[in-house]
This record gives sequence, structure tokens and C-alpha cells, in this order.
Amino acid sequence: MKENQATILLIEDEQQMRRFLRVTLQSEKYKVLEAETATDGLSQAATRSPDIVLLDLGLPDMDGLEVIEKLREWSVVPVIIISAREQEGDKIKALDRGADDYLTKPFCSGELLARIRVALRHSGPKSPEQRDAVFVAEELRIDFLKRQVYCGSQEIHLTPIEYRLLTVLVRNAGRVMTHRQILKEVWGPPYVEQTHYLRVFMNQLRKKIEADSTRPRFLLNEPGIGYRFKPDLE
Ligand code: CA
Repeated sequence: MKENQATILLIEDEQQMRRFLRVTLQSEKYKVLEAETATDGLSQAATRSPDIVLLDLGLPDMDGLEVIEKLREWSVVPVIIISAREQEGDKIKALDRGADDYLTKPFCSGELLARIRVALRHSGPKSPEQRDAVFVAEELRIDFLKRQVYCGSQEIHLTPIEYRLLTVLVRNAGRVMTHRQILKEVWGPPYVEQTHYLRVFMNQLRKKIEADSTRPRFLLNEPGIGYRFKPDLE
């Protein structure tokens, strides 16, 4: 598999955690680079062009949030945050500043590998404009050119906002998006605090596309963080 030739940079100061990550990644034939400090991590990110960065937020020499900011000045490499539970608030800030996803410690290796596969799919050579004009996930089908959404053979009529909300999440399928990110993309920057808009429209959208809107299959809640469109059944 080509994607398993990917190089992954671990920026993590805890030795035990690094060992767990290294063993997990090497078992899937990923090439692993390791940094114990933010300074070393940033330098390796610049010189060795990893395909993914796994970033711990609590580092000895610099805050992980600062690492993301510095990295985003020149790199679009996917960043997956690996954070401890007490850094809950920082997770949202990290996503807002340009991280792609997060995992809360402790997590299982299967979950980590799945997130890495998603991040690698997103970092492929296609820009959003060049992606397929039709998106399919089970019975759900979106025709981006015609702006039509189908459930099986049934066309679903969405309002312009509902359509934007769905497509923003689908364009980022598999990745968590924060409330602020979604509000900014769908409603615009002045609306980033209006989480109630999002809740109302998310409910409407779920009623239209989910078989059971109280137990969503596609539009998953990430409590306290945002939402995630789940493309495949795991
Ligand atoms: Ca740490």
C-alpha cells in the first residue's frame, strides 16, 4: 500500500507515549520521526517534510498551540493533536488554529490509525475544487455541480444554509470541525459565536438526511467541540 510509505512526525515529550506510538505506526509500515521538544519538532517538520504530524499539546519548551501557529505559517501538513483530558479547552483552540483532528489520551491504536488514514486521504494532491463532482456515502448522494442531494432515489430538498452546512462537513468528511469553523464557513466570520444557529440547522438537516435523527448515522456530535461527518461505517 502506497499510503503506508508515509512519514509521520511525532512531537511528544513522554517517552512511554512515544514508544506506544512508534510501535503502533511501525507495525503499519509508516516511517516514524520523533521529536521530544517543540523546537526540534518544528525543525524536523521543516527539513524532513513529514506527511502527518502527531502533536502533543503539553511540551516542555513551547505550548502546542504555538507550535501549530508557527507550523501553519508555512506548512499545510495535516496535524493530529494527541491531548490529555485536562487540555479539553485547548483542543478547540488547536482545531481553530489549524490542527486537523484530535485524539484524547488514552486512545487505542485502531482509532489512531483510522484518523491517520483519513488525514492522508485529505492531504492528497486533489484540492477541494478538483474533487469528484459527486459524493456518495451509502444511500446518501450529493451532486455538487447540480447542487442536488439524494437519499436513495429520493431527492432531498435542502435550504441554501442546510446545503452549505452539509457540504462543508462532507468536504471535511471524517474530520472533526469545531462549532466556530462551521459557523465561519456556513454563515461567515461575524457569526462564529452563534452556536444556537448551528444547533437549529443541524437538527433540521438531520431530520432530512438521517434515517433516525435522534441516532445520527452521518452527522455526529463531538460533545463540546463540534461535529463530524462520518463517511464509512467502522
Ligand atoms: Ca506532554
